[in-house]
Amino acid sequence: MQRRKGATMRILRWLLAAVLAAGWLLGRGAAAEVPSPEAAFGFTPGSDRKLVDYGQLMDYLEQVATASPRFELREIGTSELGRPLYVGLLSSEANLARLDELREINRRLALDPEIPDAERERMVEEGRVFVLATMSMHASEVGPAQALPLLVHELVTGDDPAVLEQLDRVVLMVVPTHNPDGMDMVVEYYRSSLGTSYEGGPLPGVYNRYSGHDNNRDFVNLTQAESRAVSRVYTSDWYPQVQVDKHQMGGTGPRYYVPNVHDPIAENIDEGLWTWSGVFGSNLANDMATDGLRGVATHWLFDNYWPGSTETALWKNMIAFLTEGASCRVATPVFVEASELETYGKGLSEYAKSINMPDPWPGGWWRLSDIVRYELVTMRSILKTAARNRPEILRFRNGLCRSEVAKGRTEAPAYFLLPRRQHDPGALAELVGLLQEHGVTLWQATARLELQGRVVEPGDVVVPLAQPYRAFVKEVLERQSYPVRRYTPDGEIIRPYDVTSWSLPLHRGLVCHEVAARSAELESRLAPVDAGSLGSGVELPVDAWGVALPAAANASFRAAFAALGEGVRVERILEQTTNGDLELAAGTFLLRGNSERVAAAARTPGAVALMAAPAGATTVLAPRRIGLVETYFHDMDAGWTRYLFDDFGVGYRVLHPADFESTDLASSFDVLVFPDVGADILTKGKRKIDDDDYRPTEYPPEFAKPISEKGLARLRAFLAAGGVVVSWQSSTELFLEKLGGEEESEELPPLAARDVTEELEKRGLYVPGSLLRARLLADHPLTWGMPAEVGVFSEGSPVFATSIPRADADRRVIASHPDDDILMSGYIEGEKLLAGKPVMVWLRSGSGQLVLFGFSPHHRGSMGGTYKLLFNALLLPDSAP
Ligand SMILES: [Zn+2]
Repeated sequence: MQRRKGATMRILRWLLAAVLAAGWLLGRGAAAEVPSPEAAFGFTPGSDRKLVDYGQLMDYLEQVATASPRFELREIGTSELGRPLYVGLLSSEANLARLDELREINRRLALDPEIPDAERERMVEEGRVFVLATMSMHASEVGPAQALPLLVHELVTGDDPAVLEQLDRVVLMVVPTHNPDGMDMVVEYYRSSLGTSYEGGPLPGVYNRYSGHDNNRDFVNLTQAESRAVSRVYTSDWYPQVQVDKHQMGGTGPRYYVPNVHDPIAENIDEGLWTWSGVFGSNLANDMATDGLRGVATHWLFDNYWPGSTETALWKNMIAFLTEGASCRVATPVFVEASELETYGKGLSEYAKSINMPDPWPGGWWRLSDIVRYELVTMRSILKTAARNRPEILRFRNGLCRSEVAKGRTEAPAYFLLPRRQHDPGALAELVGLLQEHGVTLWQATARLELQGRVVEPGDVVVPLAQPYRAFVKEVLERQSYPVRRYTPDGEIIRPYDVTSWSLPLHRGLVCHEVAARSAELESRLAPVDAGSLGSGVELPVDAWGVALPAAANASFRAAFAALGEGVRVERILEQTTNGDLELAAGTFLLRGNSERVAAAARTPGAVALMAAPAGATTVLAPRRIGLVETYFHDMDAGWTRYLFDDFGVGYRVLHPADFESTDLASSFDVLVFPDVGADILTKGKRKIDDDDYRPTEYPPEFAKPISEKGLARLRAFLAAGGVVVSWQSSTELFLEKLGGEEESEELPPLAARDVTEELEKRGLYVPGSLLRARLLADHPLTWGMPAEVGVFSEGSPVFATSIPRADADRRVIASHPDDDILMSGYIEGEKLLAGKPVMVWLRSGSGQLVLFGFSPHHRGSMGGTYKLLFNALLLPDSAP
């Protein structure tokens, strides 16, 4: 017994020493307290048919943060549906204990071009590389977020000296998922689909509140709470030097994409950023090959000439890139036959051994665990590359800050000049707010002066190019010119991956001038921006008759919709009139009295107090009962339309195609809005591939129900009863071809318009998403508040031709392209084919009215310059034109 007791004591002492030693080696925390993902979830993340939801993921990460000194969580915002957003910081205990100091080093290196060399070297010595990883940007691409618990557990509990050394050189910042709302939607739907024919199929509807898959197309306009939060992390909170955005792609091509990108690449981005992403990319490819991971492709499919995705960070001097893993069916394994493997997109012509994919994957089973394995290997590789190049990366970041500022001092343009007086009195203040959110420095002129043939007025906004984020400033304020590259000299043009125009001033209808050279005189007359000076309203005097809101201001529509929603009387002036010294244009909103609502409306930009009733006729706006049509086919444009309507306080009810049959549209709605969705999806519940070829639906039947014959009859009855239809892009086909077009119906006279895009495309028209010039019909209720000419966001279709109508129908061309100089920003082929062509028409069929757009009036919440065309359509009087 005695002896045994002694032995027990010895063992206990040895164990205690071992635990202390382990604690000393691994840092303050006891690694044993960190739960394993298996213990926490009851399965290993990546297991077949199992997914962790956002609540489980964050619970686990919080437990790790509590238990480990190598990990902490910080809240960075709230999602559109109210879930908290986080960034996790993974590093050595020593680094996490001095985060404020490290962040200050990051800030100085990112923003200070004047650090003396010796001081900079000290900062490089003391600094750490911050790598920001956004996991599962797209909620349906579940792998990266599912891999995260394994990665975090491995890094906080591991004791490999090489990895510990890496964690001492690097702070890895992880956004567990960019889209927690979507993560929960996808996981919940997937769980409910298990064991059914639809297991692993796509989520019906968009996977977040508004933007769905477009959520990574929002990093210039920052309309969504998630993009604002993540943008702030890299723009103005932490200044990481490296950023990786984690995605998945289709399941029949390469297994994984790593940088570098394919051509074309953005002209404004410093060449060093591409060579650095190449360093990360070739290390990735090499590390993956070493670990036996096959099917890795580079210089393939993904290009980088456009900002808007998370790699917008590139324009702010970060080494930013994306990776893409092949998908299975969410968490359900797929077997891929060798004969099903294919290539698509630029950079790979065959599914075969080639320099951009030296080791093709041969086919077979592909499971979530494979995706998770690839994710872990890539994250280890990125960590290793960042650690290995720590001083070079930190020095490079400050070098870019210096060189961008230097370019701004020596190269044209020296400034962008945004005159204070703009067509929409509130739009400049909004743009200034957005640019400040983007970390851009702006000034206002304090005096009137002449500058290189241009007059600068006091209050005009001046954006100097001599600033660290110069590339971003230039990219988003200039007009876009697509960097045309060909596969071979004189060969085929490399087509763009996404749209080609994003100019903030042009999309918002703002005048912006480039000023070529610097001016000491101007720079001595600049003051910080006073947002209040850029378009404010008035305090309403108690004895005022009411308030006039200019139709030119988007903000006036917001105030008018709010007033209508509260039952306040809103009128619009029918013809230009005067009120004392004031000129009031047609379309001006009038609110009488000085109630709280009217006083609030008076504070909107451009509003004026009226002391007496204006002369001339007005129309009283009736509240509109608006139906917004949204299908379950991942209808992003409908989602963006809901975003716009919510942002502007437009009341609406969502109508799904199946609802048409059961809804008396004529007595329930005044306006029906059909965003950009194919007429085949609306009327057949299937996506068209070509002519009579339809893709089989992957949604359960209740989500794929089309508008039935009876539903279409309800729609005809709605128009016959005087309803208003507003439709743009693909959905216009429903009206031009199915309702009142070629097929004459009993209720409706045929429409006096058709779509001529097919002919134009045969003759060479190609518009990948560009800003095109359009001239507007003056003095029409649809163009009230609009300038004579405007940029419209076009994807080339539809383009209309009108015809002389029957007596019981009518038409007006509301917008048409000019004869030349059509392209304002972006890329086009066959520009001349659009000369004079109508792109927005008003049609009457009996007493029903239709407003058809050949362009997107809001395009992903970016087209403030044409919102009013849509809002006017919602408020269209009964008897236009
Ligand atoms: Zn993606």
